[in-house]
Amino acid sequence: MIGAARYRTHTAVDAAGAVGQPLRVSGWVHRRRDHGGVIFIDLRDRSGIVQLVFHPEQAPVAHAAAERLHLEDVICVDGTVVARSAGTVNPRIPTGAVEIAVTGMERLAETVPVPFSVEDEGTEPSEELRLTYRYIDIRRPRRLAALELRSRVVRAMRRVLDDEGFLEVETPVLTRSTPEGARDFLVPSRLNQGEWYALPQSPQLFKQLLMVGGIERYYQIARCFRDEDLRADRQPEFTQLDIEASFVEPADIEGLTEQVLVACFAEAGIALPTPFPRISFADAIRRFGTDRPDLRVGMEIHDWTGAAGRTDFAVFRAVSEAGGVVRGLVVPGAGDGLSRKDGDELMVEAQALGAKGLVWAVVQEDGSLRSPVARFLDGLAADLGGSPGDLIVLVADEEAVVSDVLGTLRGRFAERHGLIPDGVWAPVWVDGFPLVGWNAGEGRWDPLHHPFTAPHPDDVGGIGSAPGEVRSLAYDVVLNGIEIGGGSIRIHDQAIQAAVFEAIGIRPEEADDRFGFLLRALRLGAPPHGGIALGLDRLVMLLAGERSIRDVIAFPKTATGADPLTGAPAGVDDAQLRDLAVRSTVPPAAAGA
Ligand code: ASP
Repeated sequence: MIGAARYRTHTAVDAAGAVGQPLRVSGWVHRRRDHGGVIFIDLRDRSGIVQLVFHPEQAPVAHAAAERLHLEDVICVDGTVVARSAGTVNPRIPTGAVEIAVTGMERLAETVPVPFSVEDEGTEPSEELRLTYRYIDIRRPRRLAALELRSRVVRAMRRVLDDEGFLEVETPVLTRSTPEGARDFLVPSRLNQGEWYALPQSPQLFKQLLMVGGIERYYQIARCFRDEDLRADRQPEFTQLDIEASFVEPADIEGLTEQVLVACFAEAGIALPTPFPRISFADAIRRFGTDRPDLRVGMEIHDWTGAAGRTDFAVFRAVSEAGGVVRGLVVPGAGDGLSRKDGDELMVEAQALGAKGLVWAVVQEDGSLRSPVARFLDGLAADLGGSPGDLIVLVADEEAVVSDVLGTLRGRFAERHGLIPDGVWAPVWVDGFPLVGWNAGEGRWDPLHHPFTAPHPDDVGGIGSAPGEVRSLAYDVVLNGIEIGGGSIRIHDQAIQAAVFEAIGIRPEEADDRFGFLLRALRLGAPPHGGIALGLDRLVMLLAGERSIRDVIAFPKTATGADPLTGAPAGVDDAQLRDLAVRSTVPPAAAGA
C-alpha cells in the first residue's frame, strides 16, 4: 500500500495525468465487464470515472475479489496508471486514454441491488422513486453537476458582495409573521404555551432592522418558508440571496444585482449582456401583456382600437364605445396551413383564458386576409405589420382582460411555433409598479410587493386619496420571462409607513401589534435603505438548463409538500402535543391518509 493515505492518493480523474505512477483511488463500482479472464471495472468518484483492469495472472487475489463485486459497492484499489492501447482509447471521458492496472483491492462497503441505475441515460425512474432514494439519484452525473453549479453560483455571489463590502448576517428562523403575501408555517412554543413562532417568508423585517442598526450593507443566503400550493417552480422552503443596503437608490441596487448575476452566469460559461434594459410595468403590460416579459421573442401586442371602432363589426364597436380595447398579435409564419377548425380552436383557447372571443386572420400571398370576418378587417395587416403567411389574432374586451389573454397567448404561440431562439438570455428590469392592487374578493387594497415598499416620491400625495394611482419604488428582474428577483426602496419615514398601512386597511393598533418593533425602529434613526432578493433555486435551474427547481435542490419536496425520503410531514406522539398544549382535530385514522 502506498504512502500514508488510507483511502486515496488521487481522484479518479487525476489518474489521467499520472501515467506510470502507482496510486490509490476509492469510489463506487459504476460498471463491470468480464472479458474472459480480464475484469474491467469503471470506478466512479465525484470527479468522474476511471477504468480499472484486474488481470487474473498479474493480481490473482484482487482478480478473485473483483469477481464478487456488485454494482455500487464501495472499493479502494491500488494500482499503476498505464496508457491504453490505441484502439481502446475512449475520447468521451477525461480519463479515456488511461486505465489502472490493479495490484490490490479492498471492499469498503458491500451494496444490495440499487433501485435504479446510476446513469443519466436510459429510462428515467419516477420522481417518487428518485426522491425516496435521493442519495442514489444525486450520484448521477446530471444531478451532481447541478449541485456543483449551485455551489459555484453561491460562491460567486459571496465573492461579489464581499468585494463590495457587504456583511453576511444571519437572521432568525423562529420569528414572527413576515407579510410577503403567503400563508405562514407555524411552530408552537412549548415554553410559552398557546403562542406560536412563524417561519420567515423572507428576512424582510430583520434586514430593515439591520439597516437601522447601521450595518449599511447586508446579505444572506437565506432560507424562506411559504405555505403555498406548489408548482414546478415552487417549494415550501426555498433559498434566496437576500440583500439590503443603506443610502441607496434603485439604480444602486440594480447595478449591484447586475454585477452579481453576471458573476453567476459566468460560472455557467454565459456572458450576460449589461446594462439590462428597463421597462415600466405599464409598458410591459401594454406591449407584452405581462409584467414578466420574455424578451427573447419580439411579437409585441399591437393596439387596433381606433380602426376597429370605425368598422361595422358590432363586437368591435361595442367594446370601443364602452372604453375597452381591441388589440392583437402577429404570429410570424403561423398562418400557413391554418384551417378554419384550427381557428375555431384558437377561439376556444382564448375563451378558456377569459376572453369573450377571438378574431383570427391569415395574411395571404397577395396581402389580403383569410378570416371568417375578413370583410371587417380592412387595413389590419398593414396596420399591424403582418406579412404573407402570418397569423393575426385580435381580442376585444376590457384592457386588463385583453392584456392577460394576449400575454398568455404570446407565450404559447412562441413555444408552439418555435419562435424562441436557443442560447439567448434576455434579462430586463421591470419598475414603476403600482404600490397597491385592488383585491376584489376582500374589497380592499393590497400591497403589490410588501407593505414596506416606498411609494414613488412624485406620487406620495395620492396615498390617501387615490392609492391605485400611486407607483412604488419596486423593481423586478426578469430573465427569459421568469422573475428571478425583486426588491424595492423601503419606507424609512414613519408617517409614510402609517399612511400606507391605512391605505391597505391595517389599523394603527393592528400595525402596532404586528410590526410595532419595526415602526419603533423607524423612529430611532432609520437611514434611507432598499434591497432585493434573488431566487437561488430558479436561477440555478435556468443556468443548469433544468425545467424544475426540484432538480437543483439536494432534498426537495414533492408537489404535495412531502419528502418521500424521510416521510415528512408525519404524525407526532400525543406526549409531544401535550407538551405543546396542542390538540389535533384530525381523527387518527385520517391523519397521514
Ligand atoms: N423580501 C422580498 C421578497 O422576499 C424581497 C425584497 O423586497 O427585498 O420577495
